[in-house]
Amino acid sequence: NNRTYTMVKPHAVADNQVGGIVKMIEEGGFRIVAMKKTQLTAAQAGKFYEVHAGRPFYGELCEMMSAGPIVAMILEKDNAVADFRTLIGSTDPAEAADGTIRKAFAKSKGENAVHGSDSDENAEIESSFFFSGLERY
Ligand code: ATP
Repeated sequence: NNRTYTMVKPHAVADNQVGGIVKMIEEGGFRIVAMKKTQLTAAQAGKFYEVHAGRPFYGELCEMMSAGPIVAMILEKDNAVADFRTLIGSTDPAEAADGTIRKAFAKSKGENAVHGSDSDENAEIESSFFFSGLERY
């Protein structure tokens, strides 16, 4: 598969960092297939991050992800999932490599600027959570 799903998290949207993040994504060789600004309810965030239910940070995560608008995107590139994980960097910005999106824009482990799918299967599930078939040709 050559597609992945990403979203700019609410704190980064609120801080006007969408442009800077999109610039890094495009300069990283990714084509934007689909893009929208929307806001999740806490229940929708809970559904999106269902795999983390039971982790100690789950409540905080759902609250943070529904605190304001997000910008959702489907991205295309050869080896999209793995290459995008490399471009975003480690979950913890203190460990994120130079040149990564999280190194540039993350504030903490929770407020880490962007999400990136961790497998082709999840990229498909997450893309269809946010976009209809018509929106992702
Ligand atoms: P993502 O799935 O968002 O791309 P990731 O794969 O790097 O991030 P996960 O371990 O899947 O990280 O955690 C999902 C999200 O939960 C993280 O992006 C972060 O916002 C939040 N999170 C993870 N660990 C913590 C933590 N210890 N404290 C607070 N929030 C956390």
